[in-house]
Amino acid sequence: MDWEREAEDYLKRVPFFVRGKVKKEVERYLSSKGIEKVTLADLLEAKQVLVDKMSQAERGYEVFGCFGMDGCPHALTSSQELLKKLEEILEVEGIINFLKDKVKGPLKAHHKFKVGLAECPNACSQIQITDFCLHGVVLLEVDPKACTFCGACEEVCEEAAITLTDYGPIIKEEICVGCGHCLKICPKGAIKETFRGYKVYLGGKLGRHPRLATFLGHATPEETIKILKAVLKIYKNFNQKGERLGTIIERIGWDKFKKMVKV
Ligand code: SF4
Ligand code: SF4
Ligand code: SF4
Repeated sequence: MDWEREAEDYLKRVPFFVRGKVKKEVERYLSSKGIEKVTLADLLEAKQVLVDKMSQAERGYEVFGCFGMDGCPHALTSSQELLKKLEEILEVEGIINFLKDKVKGPLKAHHKFKVGLAECPNACSQIQITDFCLHGVVLLEVDPKACTFCGACEEVCEEAAITLTDYGPIIKEEICVGCGHCLKICPKGAIKETFRGYKVYLGGKLGRHPRLATFLGHATPEETIKILKAVLKIYKNFNQKGERLGTIIERIGWDKFKKMVKV
């Protein structure tokens, strides 16, 4: 969608970490009205509608992905179906009624249970501040016999996680983020994929006591569904006043919480 200069300048006032999301929401709203070029007046109208919508938290939860689903070259996973399933769980679990009962007052956007997904470790969709977050990942192993020592994998790795030795490349697991760039660039197929799925993190939030989500483990799409169900059970059992999952984790303690999630 085209943007007029004035509208673009106004959008720059939005904090950078939510600007992409706001832009997408504005474009979604305006294209539903048949608008093809965003003027400042359109933007201000969309802003009001979105602010009203956000402050209502009418569903009690939010599920969002990243632009990877629209063909981003970095995407490792394709999660449209998974996102639908995760959303269904939140609907079936009746999060909205649960929160209304706990909050004893109007539900606000900050009460929502948020699920964020990114299709790669770049995590453009700011998943680390959501309650249940996932990003696409690959785990790798090296076949030294197939390696021709060209060095392309070592060069492409932005994390400096690969060292090319006389015995072939060594990948430092503790540094590797699982982006798969080395896998794609290796001309000989010497770097092999042993797992493609998601890294699961829990309990991110902003607000007065911000907290980045804590890494739980790797999971297949099916496992993420089981994990979400288990997490929601704990969230409901330990929730006092509609607080976010991160607050509950802090109260219980991560080690104990993690044991309870085991599925
Ligand atoms: S998180 Fe990864 S896949 Fe998604 S838009 Fe960003 S770079 Fe692309
Ligand atoms: S997957 Fe990414 S971070 Fe890990 S070794 Fe390969 S290029 Fe480096
Ligand atoms: S890119 Fe492949 S062939 Fe080249 S050094 Fe790395 S593993 Fe070996």
